[in-house]
Amino acid sequence: MTQSIADALAATRQHVAAAAQLAGRPPDTVTLLAVSKTHPDSAIREAYAAGQRAFGENYVQELVHKAAQLAALPIEWHFIGPLQSNKTRDVAATAHWVHSIERLKIAERLSAQRPPGLPPLNVLIQVNVSGEASKSGCTPQDLPALAHAVAALPQLRLRGLMCIPEPTPDRALLRARFASLRSLQAQLNAAGLALDTLSMGMSADIDAAILEGSTLVRVGTAIFGQRDYTR
Ligand SMILES: *Cc1c(COP(=O)(O)O)cnc(C)c1O
Repeated sequence: MTQSIADALAATRQHVAAAAQLAGRPPDTVTLLAVSKTHPDSAIREAYAAGQRAFGENYVQELVHKAAQLAALPIEWHFIGPLQSNKTRDVAATAHWVHSIERLKIAERLSAQRPPGLPPLNVLIQVNVSGEASKSGCTPQDLPALAHAVAALPQLRLRGLMCIPEPTPDRALLRARFASLRSLQAQLNAAGLALDTLSMGMSADIDAAILEGSTLVRVGTAIFGQRDYTR
């Protein structure tokens, strides 16, 4: 029997709360982002009815389409996928958060294209914490200059950092990857920034991420089930 989305969401909330407790942190210090990419509007409505408000999407067209279909619901939309410069306008007009800033040009375009009247767009810089094992994200070496430049853009609000460590069965390595993102954030804050968000952890590594200080976990499969890319 497959679990309902409401049940899966409740179980995921419990999982997050238990991980926070284990880490000695209040459960409300970790935000649950429901990653709804590839899943239909009906799945989002079901999660919304069960109290979920923040949803994550990876593909610009899918984000724009779903945001229009669900415009009557006060959903907080997070764009978490790779972002090309020819797609920034749609994201600037639709999203409340972008997690995947890895170069200044994209951030500059988002700031310039954020429609007047909307609050500044919350952004995170995606950092490559896995060295050569991963290609996406800015390098830790490039991070300080990028972070200070992004923080100075008028229509963006730099809130923190995001990472997607390389898949590994090695728990210690995984925790070290998450710990390195937290330490990079601490260094930026010591240098004058005021970053409050660490977007790290997905369905399979919620516990390790929360133990290392995650304030936002991005969870798809555990809430909505397996994604079907053949449809
Ligand atoms: C798809 C995706 C997720 C969700 O992954 P699950 O393993 O399904 O929880 C989280 N973050 C990013 C950036 C994603 O692309």
